[in-house]
Amino acid sequence: MDHFAYKNGVMHAEDIPLPRIAEAVGTPVYVYSRATLERHARVFREALDGVPDKLIAFAVKANPNLAVLKVLKGQGYGADVVSVGEMRRALAAGIAPEKIVFSGVGKTAAELAAALEAGIGQFNIESAEEGEELAAIAEAMGMCARCALRVNPDVDAGTHDKISTGKADNKFGVPIDEAGQIFGQLAGLPGVEMRGIAVHIGSQLADLAPLERAFGKLGELIEALRGAGHTITHVDLGGGLGVPYKRGEELPSPAEYGAMVARVTKGWGVTLIFEPGRVIAGNAGVLLTRVVRVKRGLNHPFVIVDAAMNDLARPALYGAYHDFVGVEPSGENMTANIVGPICETGDTFAMGRECDRLAAGELAVFRTAGAYGATMASSYNSRGFVAEVLVDGDRYAVVADRIEAAAIMDAERVPEWL
Ligand SMILES: *Cc1c(COP(=O)(O)O)cnc(C)c1O
Repeated sequence: MDHFAYKNGVMHAEDIPLPRIAEAVGTPVYVYSRATLERHARVFREALDGVPDKLIAFAVKANPNLAVLKVLKGQGYGADVVSVGEMRRALAAGIAPEKIVFSGVGKTAAELAAALEAGIGQFNIESAEEGEELAAIAEAMGMCARCALRVNPDVDAGTHDKISTGKADNKFGVPIDEAGQIFGQLAGLPGVEMRGIAVHIGSQLADLAPLERAFGKLGELIEALRGAGHTITHVDLGGGLGVPYKRGEELPSPAEYGAMVARVTKGWGVTLIFEPGRVIAGNAGVLLTRVVRVKRGLNHPFVIVDAAMNDLARPALYGAYHDFVGVEPSGENMTANIVGPICETGDTFAMGRECDRLAAGELAVFRTAGAYGATMASSYNSRGFVAEVLVDGDRYAVVADRIEAAAIMDAERVPEWL
């Protein structure tokens, strides 16, 4: 459920008609709904009521906008970060350092040191090499890093290859059958406190079975580690729950996920950490765009919009589907190819899509663009960075300025010897 709906034939974000935002801020622009973010945060948290001890750490990479992070902080959320840049955002949004978890295979020495300095809650170590490096850095700083070892459970998440992370040949975590040995090796080092294990098998999961298999394997590993004399107090179950991109698409609900988690983790006696991203932010945002022109095509007309693959990369990257609807639909339909202005055939949002009939100058939205949308934007084709707006009831604010192509050009230098 979200708060983007038609009122008197005009799509609104909460109480704000989208044409008002288009007039004031221009297009393309991402529009987020605070009420939707809060609702999703609450539903996910309540789904985990059966889990006694937990930290829900929003996966910042899904939507790192400071205002979005502040809304989620207000819901008691921590942050899962994958770079120092994301850590700084979480801290700037007021999220307590203890509620920050640092994941990622390529944390640099400088990033590890900065995160130690900031006093973050947990490092999710993705290799023996990283653990040794962190231990040395922490020891030199006279500190001790709280760590979980990320394991690769070798389960197929059944999602798109580019967002699968838990198969044996993916780059993430350590092989689960070597985890006991690596954990023991790292636990012996001063500078790190090995307190748990972590897993994240992929994103946009449409089925709970792979997650349940992965969590079952974690349960066995916890027993083995405890059997070897280790103290396990924290287990990070990652994120990955999918959201419906198509109307009528059925996905496991947070409640079903929560019930499965409570059942599988019963008796573990640990603090569970969750890292949801998409399920919180996905349906809380749309990308608002204006039709530049409609061009005749061989089979279908091309609806050319002013948003492009640099603003919303998912269709070009993953062949992802985003619902595309008119802001003031007439009730008539058309079958069209929806494309952006970029000089790549990949800049195609949909081919042969049945959608509202649209003409040049009219507004439309790509739905479910609140996660992995603006955060993946680039300035390809010298288009500048898209703006972001947050709506709260009958008010709204620009929460990220549009960065014009001219400002990006200003950061470039032509050496005087040219
Ligand atoms: C991307 C990522 C997440 C969030 O995934 P979603 O599918 O958006 O929930 C969580 N944890 C880690 C380690 C990630 O890389």
